[in-house]
Amino acid sequence: MFNGIVLNKTDAGFDASLRAISDEELDANAGNGDVVVRVEWSTINFKDGLAITNRSPVVRKWPMVPGIDGAGTVESSTHAGFAVGDKVLLNGWGVGETHWGCLAQKARLKGDWLVALPASLTARQAMSIGTAGYTAMLCAMALEREGVARGDEVLVTGASGGVGSVAVAILSRWGYRVVASTGRASEANYLRSLGAADVVDRKLLSEPGKPLQKERWAGVVDCVGSHTLANACAQTRYRGVVAACGLAQGMDFPATVAPFILRGVRLIGVDSVMCPMPERKAAWQRFATDFDLGRLDVITSEIALSETIARAGDVLAGKVRGRLVVDVNR
Ligand code: NDP
Repeated sequence: MFNGIVLNKTDAGFDASLRAISDEELDANAGNGDVVVRVEWSTINFKDGLAITNRSPVVRKWPMVPGIDGAGTVESSTHAGFAVGDKVLLNGWGVGETHWGCLAQKARLKGDWLVALPASLTARQAMSIGTAGYTAMLCAMALEREGVARGDEVLVTGASGGVGSVAVAILSRWGYRVVASTGRASEANYLRSLGAADVVDRKLLSEPGKPLQKERWAGVVDCVGSHTLANACAQTRYRGVVAACGLAQGMDFPATVAPFILRGVRLIGVDSVMCPMPERKAAWQRFATDFDLGRLDVITSEIALSETIARAGDVLAGKVRGRLVVDVNR
């Protein structure tokens, strides 16, 4: 037996509990996984918050063990790429949504979904980064690939959150001048400690604005969507690049085509869940080679598995600064 969070929806309603799970139950519910992983660390992402509080149809199969992220050690494997004792990490692929996830001490996963833990990262560091941080890296790599020059001014919205905090840390490390947008004035010093050159009030971006505004940003990492994304596009410089990955303000996009057809602004969608393996591995490798891992200490708070259900709503309420890492053995 091992411990895990189990979500269930029946005629009696929705239920989230921490309970013992048998290996037989895991096999019955995640049987198509060919690698059993002893999970050591997991995390609560925005999507896990939605799943655990039943606030959005993230979970599409019941019962479900949530946890879109996990890192640990292979316990058994019939996959050619992974052997007993290998250190691995997992992000996305519908895990925690349609396949039993990693907010548990054990997970049965597909080897095709796993990434070997880069040698210079611990399992805890990998989960401090998690899907949020790896998405931030995909966004940063998109700006880089599309030619945003180091030294240029870039905007990060939702900056105190998980994706935003890691994006600020990455982009400042890479030599961009990072402007962090936040609704939490009290986190200005935190954002500066991650490398933000300037911190602005998110109200300047979150209200309806003109289709074209004064050109400022060479690049944008947007975690927020809605009017914020529309205004960010309207303020992006000629041929600038906007990487859109989130919807914390809303899923709507109340914009015009003006920035795209008059300024050649490029809007790049970033998805971490089904991101192809080569790009996924490249992103994780960049954390090993091109990131100040010391910044994770500032970004990360640690909780126990036993605290996870109680804290899930905090992520959605914007009460969590940076990242929450979960010790699944506590
Ligand atoms: P967090 O909850 O950690 O951060 C979101 C941040 O957005 C908050 O901290 C807050 O930042 C800001 N925010 C919240 N509500 C509003 C609002 N109403 N208006 C404006 N800003 C707001 O979540 P994550 O960083 O983990 O995720 C951010 C977004 O990215 C989410 O929508 C998530 O679903 C999405 N995501 C997408 C992925 C993908 O593959 N495309 C992968 C991972 C996440 P502040 O307090 O600084 O203003």
